[in-house]
Amino acid sequence: MSGIPYRSWVEVSRQRIADNFRAVRDIVGPGVEVMSVVKADAYRHGAAEVARVLEMEGARWLAVSSVEEGVALRSAGIGTRILVMADFLPSERDALFEYSLTPAIHSLDDIAELDSLAARHGVLFPYHLKIDSGMGRLGTSAGATEIIAAIRKAGHARLEGLMSHFASAARYDSDQTDRQVEVFDSLSARLEAAEIRPTFSHISATIPIAYGRRDAWRNMVRPGHAIYGYVSPVAGQAPPNRLKVQPALEWKAAVLEIKMVPEGAYIGYGGMFRAPRPMKIGILAVGYADGLPHRLSNKGKVIAGGQLVRILGAVSMDLTTIDLTDVPSQKLGPAVTLLGNEGAARVDAQQIARLAGTISYTVLCGISARVRRIYL
Ligand SMILES: *Cc1c(COP(=O)(O)O)cnc(C)c1O
Repeated sequence: MSGIPYRSWVEVSRQRIADNFRAVRDIVGPGVEVMSVVKADAYRHGAAEVARVLEMEGARWLAVSSVEEGVALRSAGIGTRILVMADFLPSERDALFEYSLTPAIHSLDDIAELDSLAARHGVLFPYHLKIDSGMGRLGTSAGATEIIAAIRKAGHARLEGLMSHFASAARYDSDQTDRQVEVFDSLSARLEAAEIRPTFSHISATIPIAYGRRDAWRNMVRPGHAIYGYVSPVAGQAPPNRLKVQPALEWKAAVLEIKMVPEGAYIGYGGMFRAPRPMKIGILAVGYADGLPHRLSNKGKVIAGGQLVRILGAVSMDLTTIDLTDVPSQKLGPAVTLLGNEGAARVDAQQIARLAGTISYTVLCGISARVRRIYL
């Protein structure tokens, strides 16, 4: 156990974050602004540090979900433009002004609200208008005529961006994305005809970037997953993924104890595993309270001594048991890798998600605050 400072920790590679950001920029080219999404504490990579890396790489825009997340970035000294995507509470309106955060507005009433607030502050205040082009979530569903009227009526709140979000970007066996693009195009054309020309127009997150859906890039894209090194697989006939990114995070846990158990021994809660022969087991200082999915019980794999080994029995709140029977003691380090690679052995969030019956996003976002973060 010597030399192990934490029970469980993640190592985030600043270089990988920077490389992934550059890979996105290279693919979309200089005419398209890259607004990296650092919501949910940068998918648990740590928003302040990730934002610092991106700012150093020349990022001009970042996106978060809430005003609180935006304020946290400002407090960490981040000076880029910040879009707050998932709406704001009435009590948070003043903070938008105080911290220079740019709201995504989802209803025409909110344009009027923001306008009177901007007038009171005596400033011109930019906003991005989100339309519901078919996702059926946030975004205005008002018609073009009403939208144009609401934009024109606001003298202090200024339309800077028009945005929407895809429901089924990963489904090349569906035409939902094409239909959303049509709705977006038709509104854009109506605005253009009314001489309303937002500086930015954006609909694409990681998947349309990676799989080359250029007609959806417009002049701004909003990658999240890609920045952290992931591109999800898609369904149907898709062009190849041309975006080369690599996971920026590795997750490790200390081995608290190694012991032998006899044939027939039960392991952990509910006796979910029973040793079919004498076994060497290891107890890890990580559990579902750290974000290791309980669904990995008796199923998941971790890397110990450079090889993949099984999780035995139930993942419990703070501890997890693994099979070390075939791992020679001299190869076993003081820590094991839950996510990452040791030599040729590799586990990534996509694999964990498949085993746990979830998506890679929830695996990353599930890594809890108790897990220490180290930046390399
Ligand atoms: C989370 C989010 C993104 C980023 O999505 P990824 O699939 O992680 O690239 C982009 N836009 C909106 C509105 C989001 O909520």
